[in-house]
Amino acid sequence: MKVIVIGGSHGGIATIDALIDKYKYLDVLWFDKGNFTINNSLDSQKSKTKIEELKSKGVTVFQETEVISLNTESKTITIKDLKNNKVFYENYDKLILSPGSHPKTVDLPGADAKNVVTMANRKDLLKVRQASDNDKINDVVIVGAGYNGVGAVNMFINKNVSLIDHNEFSLSSYLDNELAEKIEDKMKERNVNLEMNNSIIEIIKNDENEVIAIKTKDKILSADFVILTIGIEPNTKWLKNTLDLTENGYIKVNDYMETNVKDVFAVGDATLTKFNPLNKNIKIGLATKARRQAYCAVMNLENKNIPFFGVQGSSGLRLFGYKFASTGLNEKQAKKENLNYNSVYIEETKLDNNFVVKNTLSKDNPLIYFKILYNVDTYQILGAQIMSSNDETANINAMSIAIQNQYTITQLAFADFFFQPEFSKPLNFMNRAGISAMKKEGIL
Ligand SMILES: Cc1cc2nc3c(=O)[nH]c(=O)nc-3n(C[C@H](O)[C@H](O)[C@H](O)COP(=O)(O)OP(=O)(O)OC[C@H]3O[C@@H](n4cnc5c(N)ncnc54)[C@H](O)[C@@H]3O)c2cc1C
Repeated sequence: MKVIVIGGSHGGIATIDALIDKYKYLDVLWFDKGNFTINNSLDSQKSKTKIEELKSKGVTVFQETEVISLNTESKTITIKDLKNNKVFYENYDKLILSPGSHPKTVDLPGADAKNVVTMANRKDLLKVRQASDNDKINDVVIVGAGYNGVGAVNMFINKNVSLIDHNEFSLSSYLDNELAEKIEDKMKERNVNLEMNNSIIEIIKNDENEVIAIKTKDKILSADFVILTIGIEPNTKWLKNTLDLTENGYIKVNDYMETNVKDVFAVGDATLTKFNPLNKNIKIGLATKARRQAYCAVMNLENKNIPFFGVQGSSGLRLFGYKFASTGLNEKQAKKENLNYNSVYIEETKLDNNFVVKNTLSKDNPLIYFKILYNVDTYQILGAQIMSSNDETANINAMSIAIQNQYTITQLAFADFFFQPEFSKPLNFMNRAGISAMKKEGIL
């Protein structure tokens, strides 16, 4: 069985790992238009060794080779070697696509100015890091207050930074206001200019094509470096009219990662994914889901074996002294979906003070901020968010599994969590949130 894998990032890497795990003998061709060394965070020597090792296992790596078309009738792909512009063809028995995404740009006057960058890959990150070390860059405007945007604020914290977003507050796709405002307070303390409920309408540049300012709906902000982090778009233009795509170009796959065409599978950012809290397919760009989808595709390559269990979109980050994570729906998304939901927000110390004073090991007893959303009709948990100066983020994984398994607030109240005075309380804060929700709904 000859397998072709397209894309050498998270989805592609996990596809290769899964193929090696599952099959003893492989005949695999692996294409990426970029560089294997960069994608795998290896130095050039380690990269060479890894490519040779893969070859010995039956995987041939093709770098700087762009797949430009797919013929599903003849089961052939057309490839352009970017090093010499030569075009060649390869046929497959099974094809697994993980072409990923690229950052959205703005279709605005001045968007082609120098020093206007997006943040999508390691190359971009390098550019942004260089800019943060550049003393000549003083005024930085970041458009988009998601993970990447707020993360970028952190990198430029010693410069004049403005953060623009059309939403009411930062990180609104992940956190609700109770938690997000704590991050915003930290940004304000550091003199970050927060431009929420605002949007960019023009990038103003000088005769040298350098950005000098940003025009928003109501003001002009000086800028000598602009970062656009306003979302992603799938790398699927070349698949239009070949595979079943959504209007925005996302590849439609079933629970077995099959596209609408026999023997063609797709995983990663370029696909729509089953989102369990809504029980529908949506776009989610996360390395975690790309990796798991890849294993799922390989498990189902020859027969339908194991369906994909879907995702809750769990993610986390460390910023300005806080570690936070979220899973499932937050209020913004629940409102958008017109769900009949309610929520509970609690703030409590990590440990029981009675135990802390007796225990010399536990000097630190930080607050944990925790919120759950649940469906008022079914009491099923829809989402959860956690934040603390301590790293409590892994707790969100328990909530993710609870949501995936359609846990109710009552089941959360009675879930079995361990207690050890140095680590937790006898009644875990997640049990406490379940109990509060039961009280709120008159069950208790
Ligand atoms: C700054 C940043 C930080 C992130 N941090 C996290 C994190 O902490 N946790 C997390 O879960 N996710 C994170 N993500 C998201 C994560 O990086 C993506 O979800 C993940 O990379 C998706 O993997 P993918 O394989 O689907 O696609 P991509 O990573 O986009 O890779 C696609 C690959 O396919 C190649 N390709 C595309 N088209 C072709 C073609 N026609 N021919 C040949 N090759 C092609 C590209 O060169 C690329 O190498 C982050 C993203 C960014 C930008």
